[in-house]
Amino acid sequence: MLDLMIIGAGPAGLSAAEAAAQAGLDYIVIEKGTIANTIRQYPVGRAMFSTPNEVEMHAGTLRPVREKPTREEMLSHYIHFVLDLDLKINTGETVVSVNGNIDEGFVIKTDRGEYKARRVLFAIGAMEHPRRLNVPGEDLPKVHHLFVEPYAYVRKEALVVGGGNSAAEAALFLSEEGVRTTLAIWREDWENRDPKAGAMKHWVRTPLEAEVEAGRLQVVLYKHVDEIREKEVKLTTETGESMTLPNDVVFVLVGSDADLTLLKQLGVEMEHGKLAEVPVYDPETFETNVRGIYVAGHFTHARHIKAAIDVPRRIVPLIAQDLRN
Ligand SMILES: Cc1cc2nc3c(=O)[nH]c(=O)nc-3n(C[C@H](O)[C@H](O)[C@H](O)COP(=O)(O)OP(=O)(O)OC[C@H]3O[C@@H](n4cnc5c(N)ncnc54)[C@H](O)[C@@H]3O)c2cc1C
Repeated sequence: MLDLMIIGAGPAGLSAAEAAAQAGLDYIVIEKGTIANTIRQYPVGRAMFSTPNEVEMHAGTLRPVREKPTREEMLSHYIHFVLDLDLKINTGETVVSVNGNIDEGFVIKTDRGEYKARRVLFAIGAMEHPRRLNVPGEDLPKVHHLFVEPYAYVRKEALVVGGGNSAAEAALFLSEEGVRTTLAIWREDWENRDPKAGAMKHWVRTPLEAEVEAGRLQVVLYKHVDEIREKEVKLTTETGESMTLPNDVVFVLVGSDADLTLLKQLGVEMEHGKLAEVPVYDPETFETNVRGIYVAGHFTHARHIKAAIDVPRRIVPLIAQDLRN
């Protein structure tokens, strides 16, 4: 019987693992992908929006070459954190069910085996279900719901759909590398300048506008995408006109949602958050209404990496104390 099962090895799960080790808990982290899997899925070479102090595991330990760390510097930082502390993580293993209760313990089944634990911390992030347009042709192999690199598409026709920073960055990276790119965006997103309302960061917007100015990138204010075909995409513009674009590749980057199924099956209650459904939890302990089941990271109200790192440091010692009583 483990003291603590941690599901997910993103910044939240890694921070929880260190805190568990420090508290002398018998713990394990189960991760279906790799260490810091979400960050590995960022675009190649991408600079973070955050400064090092907001994303590093310990003050002064992440030393980027420029002001803000890149995807690769982040990955190396998190991987060496795991190696240096010899944290217990099983990668490439997926948790498929969690049952039980605090009195008898929880049974965690994975695609490789079964574990028992006295407490379970979900640090599963919010990347599981990329949002879809639900239009004909979206299942074609040329349609992607994640953007990692532009190099396969040089001199091809690309359409990026979305209004946030991920879509804007993808359009920028594609256009800069010689991909003939169209960004389909709603007017409210294109005109949004309020950083608190998810507006495009100015260091993304400025070079993006320069690409538009230079005639390399087309921005289409659209209402909806109608159909994706092998060699073209049909969409309706904001003024109601039908538009057909030649097309080789589509990136649908309209956000993603956590998979809350395991939590719901345990009986964890949900509420409407600012952007999506969020589990209900005690704001001090991050324990849900199901005793012994905890949450941390991107799918809670504390969404950013800094909070994903800070919260487990606060709550794991409380879990350890609870286990000793
Ligand atoms: C393109 C992009 C850019 C971003 N830029 C920034 C930024 O500049 N600054 C910032 O603060 N934030 C940024 N974010 C958000 C940031 O990535 C998240 O806040 C951060 O990853 C949250 O950490 P986490 O540990 O909560 O979740 P994640 O890092 O998503 O980790 C969750 C882990 O759980 C694993 N997992 C899920 N379900 C299971 C299961 N059933 N079994 C086993 N493992 C499972 C996943 O594989 C994943 O590795 C960005 C996000 C994206 C997509």
